[in-house]
Amino acid sequence: MLAYRDLPQVGRSSGGRQRVRYVRRIEQIPNIPPEQRDKLKRVTEVYAFRANDYYLKLIDWNDPQDPIRQLIIPRLDELNDWGRLDPSNEAAVTVAHGVQHKYPDTVLLLCNEVCGAYCRYCFRKRLFMNDNDEATNNVSAGLDYVARHPEVTNVLLTGGDPLLMSTRRLRDIIGLLRRIHHVRIIRIGSKMPAFDPYRILGDPELQELLSRHSTSRRRIYLMAHFDHPRELTDIACEGIDAFIRCGVICVNQCPLVKGVNDDPDVLADLYGKLSHIGCQPYYLFQGRPTAGNEPYEVPIVRGWQILREASCRESGLARRVRYVMSHATGKLEILAVDDRYIYLRFHRAKDPALRGALLTCKRNDEAFWLDDLEIVETDRPIGNEPAALFSNSRELE
Ligand code: SF4
Repeated sequence: MLAYRDLPQVGRSSGGRQRVRYVRRIEQIPNIPPEQRDKLKRVTEVYAFRANDYYLKLIDWNDPQDPIRQLIIPRLDELNDWGRLDPSNEAAVTVAHGVQHKYPDTVLLLCNEVCGAYCRYCFRKRLFMNDNDEATNNVSAGLDYVARHPEVTNVLLTGGDPLLMSTRRLRDIIGLLRRIHHVRIIRIGSKMPAFDPYRILGDPELQELLSRHSTSRRRIYLMAHFDHPRELTDIACEGIDAFIRCGVICVNQCPLVKGVNDDPDVLADLYGKLSHIGCQPYYLFQGRPTAGNEPYEVPIVRGWQILREASCRESGLARRVRYVMSHATGKLEILAVDDRYIYLRFHRAKDPALRGALLTCKRNDEAFWLDDLEIVETDRPIGNEPAALFSNSRELE
C-alpha cells in the first residue's frame, strides 16, 4: 500500500516559505483501506474533514490506536446520536455577528471558520458546516462593540483558527485593536503551532507584526493547543520559540480526549515538555457534550484521577494547569473528588452572583458534564436561573 510519506511532501512557495498541502477528502489518504474510506466518507459528510501533509506524517499508520490518528481521522461512531451542536450555549452570549461576550473583561471574535486540520473532538464543529455563518472575517461589528465597552481588557481572536488568515488581514485586525486603549491583552487561540509550525517560521511579516504589537505594557498571548507530546516536534518547538522571540506569551490549553491524552504518562510528558519550551500549561478542558464527540469523551472523575496522577510526576512549572468545564453558566474548576462527592468551583461565572461559588455534587463516575451531576450543597444561594440550568439538581435550600 502507498504510504502517506510517499506522497508529495511539504512544499515550498515561490517566495521560499514552506507550505503544507491540505487534504480535504478522506479518499486522498492512501493509508486508509478503500472499504474503510467509503464508510468514513459518510462521517465527513456530516462533520467536516481536513488535514495536511505535515500533520499526517506524524501518524504511525501501523498502530490503529495511534493518538495523532485518533485526533484527525474520523470514526464511524461519531455518527452516534449524542450531544448538542452548541453544548455551552454560545448562542446566548453572541452579541453581534462573530462576537461573544460572556465575562465582563473578555470578548471573543470568531474571525475565521477554517483550521489547519479539523480535530475530531472540536466543540465548535458546527462552524465548519455548510449552513453555519457564525464566524466572520469582517470584524468591524466586533471592533465597534469592543470600543463601546471600556470594561473589555482582553480580546480573544478565535474561530476556527485566526492564524489561517492572511498576515495582511491579521495586521488590520490587530492594528485596529491596538487603537482601542482599554484593550490590554490580545489573545490568539491557535492550533497552527501543532498543525503547521511553518506558518510562523516562514513568515517574517507575521513575526514583525507580533513583535510590534506585543509590548511591555500590552502583550499578545498565544493560546496554543497541543494535545499530545508527539505534536511537539523539533519544528513545532522552533515555532513556539519564534513566538516567544516576538515577545508573545505562550500558554497551552487542550481538552482531555479519549484515545489521545487520557493517560497520566502522556499528560505528564506533554506538560513537562511544554514547560521546557516556555509554553505554560494553562487549561485542561473537560470535553463538552458536543454532537459527534461521544467517542472522545472521558468522565469527570476519571479525568480528575488522570490529571492528579500526571501532576505528581512533573515539576511545579508543569503542573500549573487547571482542569475546567466550560459550562453555559461559566467556567467551573474541578477541584477534587472523594468517595462521596465531586467539588467544583466557578472559576469564571456568567452570573456575578455565582463568581467563586463552590458546588458539592454527589459522586457519579459516569458523569461527563455538570448537567449529569446532582448538586447537594453550595456555599451560597445560587438563585433560580442556575438551578433551572442544572437540570438534575435537587431543590437547593
Ligand atoms: S483547532 Fe480548535 S477550532 Fe479548529 S478544529 Fe481543532 S479544536 Fe476546533
